Amino acid sequence: MAATLDWYGCATFRLRIAGLTIFLDAYIDRVAGAPGPGLRADDVDACDWIVVGHSHFDHLYGAERISANTGARIIGSYETVRVMLAAGVPLDRMICVSGGETVELGPGVTVSVYPSQHSCVWSHRQMAQPDQVCLGDLGVTWQEQQARFAKLRAFLGTELDAGAVDHLRASAQGARGDGGALVYLFDTPDGSVLYQDTSGYWTGIFQNLRPDVAILAAAGRGNIDGDPIQGSLSRFVARQAELLRPTRLILCHHDDWLPGFSVDTDVKPIREELARVVSRTELLELGYLDGTRILPAR
Ligand SMILES: [Zn+2]
Repeated sequence: MAATLDWYGCATFRLRIAGLTIFLDAYIDRVAGAPGPGLRADDVDACDWIVVGHSHFDHLYGAERISANTGARIIGSYETVRVMLAAGVPLDRMICVSGGETVELGPGVTVSVYPSQHSCVWSHRQMAQPDQVCLGDLGVTWQEQQARFAKLRAFLGTELDAGAVDHLRASAQGARGDGGALVYLFDTPDGSVLYQDTSGYWTGIFQNLRPDVAILAAAGRGNIDGDPIQGSLSRFVARQAELLRPTRLILCHHDDWLPGFSVDTDVKPIREELARVVSRTELLELGYLDGTRILPAR
C-alpha cells in the first residue's frame, strides 16, 4: 500500500501508511500572516499516533488537542510527555522514549527512536538563507549558550509584532528547553522513512541508517555532534544526505513559520548542493497538504 505525506508547514506532517494516520509533530496553528494551510490543530479529526521530535512549541503545541479530539497516542521525550500530562493528556495514552526503543504502531509498521541534536539556535538571531556561510562558535559552553539564548528571547520580544507575541504566549506550554531532540525511523512493508524536525544529528548514528525516504529539517545553524556546522545550511543538509543516502529527500521547517525570526528559505542552493554530492537522491519539494506519494520508493 502506498504511503502519502501531507505537509502542514514548519516541521509538521501527516503520514498515511498501512491504514494508519500518523502526525509527525503537531504544530498547526500559526501566527497571523504566516504561510500555511490555514488550519488549526482542532481541525484534525482523525489520527492514530503523534510522534514528536522535540518539546519546543513549534513542534509540540497542538498535540494535546489532536490527542483529545481523536484519541491519538503520543510518542515523545520524557519532557514532551511531562508537558502533555500538564496539558491534560492521560499518561496511559503516551509513550516516553529517549532513543533505543522500537514501537509497534500497527500491523507491519514500527518506529525506531534515536537520540539527536537540536540546531544551534543560540548562535543566531534571525535565520539565514541556506547559501550563507557561518563560521566559528565552536566549543561554546552550556552557560554561554543559555546567555545567548536569553538575548535571542529578548530580541524576539522586541522584534515580533503584537500578534506574534500573543501567539508565543498562548503556545508556551512550559517546556524546559527542547527536552532532547529525537529522530524517528519508520519501517513498513513498502520501505522506511526517517523523520528529523530540527537541524542536528550525531554522525555515529546517521552513518549507520539507510532510510528510503529522509525528511530533514532545513532551518537555522546545523548542529553536528554538539557543535555548529562550519559552513552553510546547504552543506549541512547535503552532509546528512551523504551519510543517509536516501532515495528521496524531503525538507521541513524551511517555510516562514514565524515572520521576523524565520525566513522564507530559498531551496535552490540546497537543491544544487544535493545534485552535486548525492545525484541519485531525488529532492521532493512539497506544497502544503498535497498528499505526496513517498513510498514505495521505487
Ligand atoms: Zn526547537
